[in-house]
Amino acid sequence: MFTKILIANRGEIALRIIRACKQLGIKSVIAHSESDKDSLPVRLADEAVCIGPANATHSYLNQRAIVSAAKLTNAQAIHPGYGFLSENADFAALIEDSGLTFIGPTADNIRNMGDKVEAKKQMTMAGVPCVPGSNGALPADSEQVIKIANEVGYPVIIKAASGGGGRGMRVVEKEADLLSAISMTQTEAKANFGSSIVYLEKYLQAPRHIEVQVMSDTHGNAIYLGERDCSMQRRHQKVIEEAPAPGITEEQRQKIGQACVTACEQMQYRGAGTFEFLYENGEFFFIEMNTRVQVEHTITEMVTGVDIVQEQIRVAAGLPLAYKQSDIAIIGHAFECRINAENAQTFLPNAGRIDYCHMPAGFGIRVDSHAESNYTVPPSYDSLIAKICVQDRSREKAIEKMRAALSEAQITGIDTNIGLHQRLFEDEVFCEGQMSIHYLEQWIQDNI
Ligand code: ADP
Repeated sequence: MFTKILIANRGEIALRIIRACKQLGIKSVIAHSESDKDSLPVRLADEAVCIGPANATHSYLNQRAIVSAAKLTNAQAIHPGYGFLSENADFAALIEDSGLTFIGPTADNIRNMGDKVEAKKQMTMAGVPCVPGSNGALPADSEQVIKIANEVGYPVIIKAASGGGGRGMRVVEKEADLLSAISMTQTEAKANFGSSIVYLEKYLQAPRHIEVQVMSDTHGNAIYLGERDCSMQRRHQKVIEEAPAPGITEEQRQKIGQACVTACEQMQYRGAGTFEFLYENGEFFFIEMNTRVQVEHTITEMVTGVDIVQEQIRVAAGLPLAYKQSDIAIIGHAFECRINAENAQTFLPNAGRIDYCHMPAGFGIRVDSHAESNYTVPPSYDSLIAKICVQDRSREKAIEKMRAALSEAQITGIDTNIGLHQRLFEDEVFCEGQMSIHYLEQWIQDNI
């Protein structure tokens, strides 16, 4: 096992990793920017190295500075958290070439899954169901493209092979708009992601977003930890997540989970990962794989009892998974509310000083947060300041618990979306469950 790990991240996920290290008896070093120097994770890590200014390009994205910080402090491994460099194959390769361990998948795993055309090809080979579409990159020949779109059937969605963050895609309703939409998406993709390769998929009208959490080790073992429903999104950003997904039967869970496990085995996947699906009319359609720990891993931990971050570290150290598939059971129901520092009407990020911060606690309530009284939320980063999670024996009970937890949460001095969450947990349709990925946007239009 490692004796020291460097954390190349900030905020709540840095804190989450520090806690996992403490429990495993591993020392932690945090590589941080100047603006985070007084933050809770920097104070709680065993060591801290300032690697650059607030601007992430010169700090949290500065690969060489991060590796140097790890070398300097004698850390043996680097945990990238989520965001920043977590899905950067070159970073993973640089770390391994420097004689350190990247706590995550292999550079090849990241590269292959980062190319969505390649990812879909591998999924199809492993028997994972995909959204019907072009089966690969779109050809240059217009007539062929028109034929493919007709076969798939309108509406279709054009997507950049290397796209991410909800960017680089365009919905096309009819043939007349097809070719211009393709060339626009290609230009955008080239400018934003460095590759103009695009592909085409059937555009599903009102799907749910359901994702499967997996964990693999380097001894050929892979397991699935059930699924999460992340349909409550605004601009492709998740706002509330829950586990398990309402209405999914044990049989469906096993079938899709097993398909994901087979895919992990075939690509010799290492560590934690998430298979994202659109779910419509009882069917799953793969859209992409995230090769990192996700923000919402917490709710899977709450319903399975598996510490995903500790498992990531153990697997990276070469240990076998501590769990077999038969050890995994889904207990009750969990929700996560993402608390963002943002304006309640405009949803614009709202940095500034928190005068007073009180987060809920109690039986079955978990808060992962780096926020505290007198903390100044810097303007340079993501607006996520806390994740309020609850678990209880049923979805109804978990809703009641979340209402109670939210009523206790207090953050003054800056605007947050706590009020939005409170209203959503009173919304009848949400409380019924099984809403589509468009529900929240529509609700916001009608209610805000
Ligand atoms: P990104 O990597 O940018 O997040 P995804 O492929 O995961 O891209 O898609 C992001 C979101 O776009 C999905 O969660 C869904 O809301 C929408 N989307 C993507 N593909 C389709 C599709 N075929 N039909 C309907 N909606 C889609």
